[in-house]
Amino acid sequence: MEKFDVIIIGAGAAGMFCAAQAGQLGRRVLLLDNGKKAGRKILMSGGGRCNFTNMHTEPAAYLSHNPHFCKSALARYNQWDFIDLVNRHGIAYHEKTLGQLFCDDSAQQIVDLLLKECDAGQVTLRLRSEVLSVERDDRGYTLQLNGTLVQAEKLVIASGGLSMPGLGATPFGYKVADQFGLKVFPTRAALVPFTLHKPLLEQLNTLSGVALPTTITAQDGTLFKEAMLFTHRGLSGPAVLQISSYWQPGEFVTIDLSPATSLDDFIHVQREAHPNLSLKNSLAKILPKRLVEVLQELKQIPDVTLKQLNSKQQGELVNMLHQWRVQPNGTEGYRTAEVTLGGVDTTQLSSKTMEARDVPGLFFIGEVVDVTGWLGGYNFQWAWSSAWACAQAL
Ligand code: FAD
Repeated sequence: MEKFDVIIIGAGAAGMFCAAQAGQLGRRVLLLDNGKKAGRKILMSGGGRCNFTNMHTEPAAYLSHNPHFCKSALARYNQWDFIDLVNRHGIAYHEKTLGQLFCDDSAQQIVDLLLKECDAGQVTLRLRSEVLSVERDDRGYTLQLNGTLVQAEKLVIASGGLSMPGLGATPFGYKVADQFGLKVFPTRAALVPFTLHKPLLEQLNTLSGVALPTTITAQDGTLFKEAMLFTHRGLSGPAVLQISSYWQPGEFVTIDLSPATSLDDFIHVQREAHPNLSLKNSLAKILPKRLVEVLQELKQIPDVTLKQLNSKQQGELVNMLHQWRVQPNGTEGYRTAEVTLGGVDTTQLSSKTMEARDVPGLFFIGEVVDVTGWLGGYNFQWAWSSAWACAQAL
């Protein structure tokens, strides 16, 4: 039986960062992962450039049944602390939009940073490790791996959520929580594209690939001003991924297709200047041409000139374009979701250390916990912050 001070399960963002910090604080750390590479999601993230944090990180950007839980960790290790670390490793980065920081070159640089930090903490990393069982007694935690037993005083679960099973996601963390009597909130795919009912999908079929700025609003009033993309399955793009976290099956979302321009004002000005211009060509000045064509084929945009457009038609049109109501059929699910909503109930964890209150020595960090960020680097920041807070207590 091999003995360590700490065993961490999951060599993703949270697990690697926690291992590195604990190792550098003098703990003997074993970091286990079921995959053949560490940080597989990091490599895929941000289109291969890893949106590693967000300059505007604040607790309001996180969903949880217990919205206060994330505050302590986010305050004690914040976005500027991680940016400092990125700077110390000489990694060049840029702000893409809305405070989102991406590597200039490659997400591999963030994985390399974490591996170097783990080396500095003399972390033992074991890949392709399947944990067959977890037992607890007065000496701590004993894990049966394929063929060997390992033991440590403290056990950290950093096995992530259920999104992208192809990248090694498993329900392991939820099962361990269950084994030790912790409540797990039901999980759901989030930051995920919407699918549409067949008739609507067929109507919008030729729009696949068209993107436009929107304001999208969920039934609970939450709204995001970001781009939307029509796909061959339904709707995607940052606006849709964001609102998917606030959408419940059966609900509608309301989409403003012209958030920057009041269509009433636009039509008024256009009618004065070009009364004989077709409504279609006029709208194509501010909306994607293919979208205007499809809406006209669907009789949503009348086939008239601006001077022929009567006030009833104009009212209906303006209403439809500023408040397009869509009822998604569902989402693309965990296969393409960036994150998992729900997870280990935070009321049973210390927000300072991430330790289970009633199970000494057992910690949960990262996405397995019921804390889910917006799109834009917020989820990695939660991984770094929760990992750091935990490491200080190991
Ligand atoms: P993970 O990074 O998922 O790590 C969990 C690890 O545990 C994995 O390596 C897994 O193989 C391992 N594991 C699971 N089960 C077991 C088991 N039974 N035994 C052993 N090991 C196990 N967030 C951002 O902030 N910015 C982005 O740019 C961004 N882009 C993303 C792009 C994609 C395609 C996806 C899917 C997600 C993206 N996210 C992004 C979300 C972000 O990747 C996650 O929130 C973050 O990785 C969570 O970190 P974690 O360490 O908790 O879990």
